[in-house]
Amino acid sequence: MKKIEHIGIAVKDLDNSNTLFEKLFGKAAYKLEEVASEGVITSFFKSGPNKIELLAATTPESPIAKFLEKKGEGIHHIAVDDIKSEIKRLKKEGFIVLNDKPKKGADNKLVAFLHPKSSNGVLIELCQEIKQK
Ligand code: ZN
Repeated sequence: MKKIEHIGIAVKDLDNSNTLFEKLFGKAAYKLEEVASEGVITSFFKSGPNKIELLAATTPESPIAKFLEKKGEGIHHIAVDDIKSEIKRLKKEGFIVLNDKPKKGADNKLVAFLHPKSSNGVLIELCQEIKQK
């Protein structure tokens, strides 16, 4: 594992939260992106080398909508670099891998998730940059 890539926070209202985090970091989100296939809209903030991803639901069936219903707003996942070198190792270590085939996520990343059941209740996102052709 190279580093924590970002921390994902589930929010109810992305506009409100963007304003809030803008105040917190003293600068605007550097990226806003919808991942329609996941029913989610995201924004990304940078503070030094660290990134925060805000996630809001765009449909009632969205995993984010379900998360908010169950747990309310708060930390949704911790994302770590990267997939290729880690997915096999973590499986061997007994973590439950939810996506054997990484899928396309926000911020030009391939993503795969570990079930929170196997990691102290925290959803872990493995991610890695999609190489530009
Ligand atoms: Zn993420």
